[in-house]
Amino acid sequence: MLQQRAALASQEKEAALKRLREAEYSSFFSSRHTLCQHLDSCIANSISSFCQRFLLANGVRVGIGVLLRAFKLAKNKSFRSLLNLKLLVSEKDLIVREEACRIGLLFGGFTGCYHGIRCILRRLRKKETILNEFFAGCIAGLSILTLDDQSKRRTLALYILARLAQCIYNLAKARKKFHFWGSHWQHGDSLLFSLACAQVMYAFVMRPETLPESYLEFIVRTGPISRPVLKAVRESCRGEPVDVDALSAFLSSNSNAKLELATNCRLIPCTGIHAGRSSCMEQTSFAARSAFKKTFPLYMSLTFVPFVVLNLQKFMQAPMHTFLTALRGAVRSTSFISLFVGIYQGFICLHRKIAVKDHKLIYWFAGAIAALAVLLEKKSRRSELALYVLPRAAGSRNSLSLSLCTDSDSGKTHSNVMCIISGASKPARKHPHKLIQYFA
Ligand SMILES: [Zn+2]
Ligand SMILES: [Zn+2]
Repeated sequence: MLQQRAALASQEKEAALKRLREAEYSSFFSSRHTLCQHLDSCIANSISSFCQRFLLANGVRVGIGVLLRAFKLAKNKSFRSLLNLKLLVSEKDLIVREEACRIGLLFGGFTGCYHGIRCILRRLRKKETILNEFFAGCIAGLSILTLDDQSKRRTLALYILARLAQCIYNLAKARKKFHFWGSHWQHGDSLLFSLACAQVMYAFVMRPETLPESYLEFIVRTGPISRPVLKAVRESCRGEPVDVDALSAFLSSNSNAKLELATNCRLIPCTGIHAGRSSCMEQTSFAARSAFKKTFPLYMSLTFVPFVVLNLQKFMQAPMHTFLTALRGAVRSTSFISLFVGIYQGFICLHRKIAVKDHKLIYWFAGAIAALAVLLEKKSRRSELALYVLPRAAGSRNSLSLSLCTDSDSGKTHSNVMCIISGASKPARKHPHKLIQYFA
């Protein structure tokens, strides 16, 4: 009798638990958990945060596209076409639809998933801890798969990794556990930016294959030197025979200038680098001016559009003030880029005035010095910029550490990174110190 009653009680208990669990799951769709801070049901909260972020990110991307298109039309002096919607936003000229959707899905998907998974975890674990946030973030991070381009995914992942490192470092520093030597320096962020830029600019001249193609394209487009000239500089610097015919054919097609150069020259002179302009001062100021003209539309769009979309109410209250603030920010950032390009070009020209032989480290130092133009930027932006460039510098790291280990017999660099990583072939076995230097 007693046994029967106990079995009945346990059955009832199980049924009650099952009902409770079912109620909890169904309440995910109809109401919120007691630990949830949001007002509506959990599912409604996830969907609404997905939609909000999707629309905002989508709007920002499309807005930037439209503004850039308007700048392009204005540049061609066709101001009347700015009023022509067909020219401004036609499918043919404004190709942002797919990218805007993907970016919307990335941000919306991340936020929606994150909130949804946190609500589910609260129900399953019956408590709110940091682990919930961690797991929700991990799973929601898979929304990066909405980006189709692998290099974009890599860039974003590296940027977020740098952010994570910054968070951990700041935490350790605040708790007085660990800090880098010189972290209290006033211009530590500028120094970091300078070192990162040195590496990137070195890779740009000597090892372009180690930089992502889109980033390389951005540097080539902003600067005054074209790829065939860079190739010739690389060849002369490495002591390889320079393809003089290709270089002079390229220069004469652009500027009608004749170039007389030996194939075994050890320094491409200024006449080869800026054939169209005879004076180095003229070339330097041209480089700075053209960088300003090329990057201003981009910076203006990047400053103005996100502010308008994300703070629409503020913008409606003071549209002129918002516009002027964005304009000031864009002029400041563009001046920084143009000064960077000017200093880099000036340094390279100066080197050609005083030296007879090229050296690859010149391009590294030129980058480090040109990067000091970052002092024009706001203090808060400097560390942002350093964090942005740092992953790219780290990505091209192998280039400098490898090329610093030059083979003393031939003077040539071991370009085959894979052979050293696999530890398989000659250079590593012949010179074990090079392997250590590479990983150090
Ligand atoms: Zn919830
Ligand atoms: Zn020059």
